[in-house]
Formats: sequence, C-alpha cells, structure tokens
Amino acid sequence: MKLPFHLRLLGRILYRQSTREHEQGALGPMCDLCPHTEALKDSAELRIQLQKLLLFINKDILPDRLQLESLYGKSSCNCFAIHDLDLKDIGVGLYPQAAMINHSCKSNCVSTFRGTKLQIRALVDIQPGEEICYSYTEKGNITRERRDVLSKYFFDCQCPYCLDDDREAIMKSVKCPSCQAQVKPNKNERYEKCSSCGFSDFTAEFYEDLKDYVQYADDVMHKPRNCLVELDKILHPDNIHVVRILVGAFAAAVKLQEWTKAIEYGKRLDRAYELYLPPNEPDTGLLYYKMGKAYYHLGDSENALISLRKAKKLLCVAYGRDSQLVDYVEDWLEFCEE
Ligand SMILES: [Zn+2]
Ligand SMILES: [Zn+2]
Repeated sequence: MKLPFHLRLLGRILYRQSTREHEQGALGPMCDLCPHTEALKDSAELRIQLQKLLLFINKDILPDRLQLESLYGKSSCNCFAIHDLDLKDIGVGLYPQAAMINHSCKSNCVSTFRGTKLQIRALVDIQPGEEICYSYTEKGNITRERRDVLSKYFFDCQCPYCLDDDREAIMKSVKCPSCQAQVKPNKNERYEKCSSCGFSDFTAEFYEDLKDYVQYADDVMHKPRNCLVELDKILHPDNIHVVRILVGAFAAAVKLQEWTKAIEYGKRLDRAYELYLPPNEPDTGLLYYKMGKAYYHLGDSENALISLRKAKKLLCVAYGRDSQLVDYVEDWLEFCEE
C-alpha cells in the first residue's frame, strides 16, 4: 500500500502480461504508446521507481530489463489521474486513446470520471480542425512549477499561459508599501515602481521579507486559516501564494461548516479562478456549488439560487448533464426554491 498509484498500475500490467504471455495483444493498445525509453534511460527516477516496485512484486513475473523500462515509460508518461466527483485523486489509469491528446496549460477540454470510465469533455466551443488539448498539470500554478511537472513528459510548453508574462506577474504581485496598490515584478522578479503613487524604494529588506512570506505561505499550506491575515499584509490578493492558501481555507471552512467564512473565502477564490483558470473549469463549478450550499445554510436563498444556477451551468459542461453531481446540484436548487 506504500506504492504510489502509477507503480501499482505498472504492477498490474506486469501481472496481466505474465499470465497471458502467449496471448496476442494481451496489452491491447498499450503497444502503441510512447515508451520514452531514450529519455528515461539511466535516469535516477527510473532507477528509484523500479527499485521501489521490485520490493513489492514477485520477481518471477518480471520481463527482461528493456521491456520493463519500456512498460514503465508507457505507463508513467501516459496515465491519467482518476478523481472522484470532488476532484480528489483516487488512482491512475491508462486510457490509450485519450493519451494521444496533447498538453496545453490553457486546455480546452477536461477529464471527468464515472467510476473508472473516463470522459473527455469540451470546456469551450472547439472548431473543426482545432486541436483538442488537455492539461497534464495544475493550471493555477506558476510557470516554473508547471514546467517542473511537465519535464517528466519531455517537452517545453509554449501555450498562451506559458507565454503570458502579465499573467505570471499578477501571480507574483505584492502590495505597494506606500499606497497598497498592486505592484507586479519585472521579468527578473524585481519590483521597480508603483504605477499608482510612484513609490520605488523596494529595499533589500523588502525582498528579505517577501522571501520569508512566500516561504511561510508554502509552510502553512496545510493549516491555512490564520496565515491569510499575515499574508494580506504584504502580498496582493491576486498573488498566487495567497490564492493557494485561500483554496485550503475555503475547504476547511466548508468542512467545519463555518458558512460565513466559506462565503468570504469563496468570493475571493471566485475572482482568482476568473483570473487564472480557463472558462468552465470543474473547479469553478464546484466552488459555486459549495458556495450555494453555504448561502443556503445562512438562510440566504436568493444568493444560494444564483450560486447553484451558475454551478449547474458549469458542471453540465464539465461533467455532463446526466452526471450524478448535476443531480445533486438540482436537488439543492429544489431545496432553495421551496
Ligand atoms: Zn503552458
Ligand atoms: Zn503605491
């Protein structure tokens, strides 16, 4: 059980292969997947991962080293995270046809699941001949972090998000120490001048503080609630570190049924999602769904209805009109309309 999802998947593939050794096409369309053997060859990652797997697997079922490496490359570079209705990862699976879809951080489609059955759903209108792109990484992360994740797929992303310096600068924006307006950094992550009041005295001490705050934000990712107040002192509300803390704070407020807090954080997240996510993202639909429930618990059925209707519209796109999640939203809409 200590094996990560993608190694468990590989274990099952190896087992299936060993039991149907002589059956033609036992691994079906997996044969066509790209193994990335050249890129992975002699890499520390390959060595460590296979070592981990070998601790758990019966050596008798192992193919020769070359084939093992090829199966590792095929399964780890092409697998999809399977998530539940709340977008929590619950496993990985191989979907060879869907694995042909290329990546874009600004994707026009999304994967949703009915059990382990994968659906690729369009998030926006896609024209004939236009490429379908799916995001292999968190769209709301900064470019450096997205590149880190994407490096394991062996390409450099050149999507509109990756080329949008302004989006990146907003993610790293701070508050002007003099007038509190938003100040974005230049390409070298230096803050030059506040365009509202002209303040330009960003001292070494300012950068020291900033570094500490960002570190602090990363450290408290898992206990987000009190640190928002701290971060709000220097980081602009659009700063990505603040947004990440908000995601955690919102989830905690919902879990603890602190509905007023949930609404406060939810409204801020709504703005951040609009800034950083493509239209019709499941995350945004789920946010409205949860905010709708929070409004309902606060006795504000008017806002609950507005939120739940928005949720329904987005979730019909991302999950499909006939999904269980849309049924849930409809149940809540009925409660509120009564
Ligand atoms: Zn990109
Ligand atoms: Zn200023």
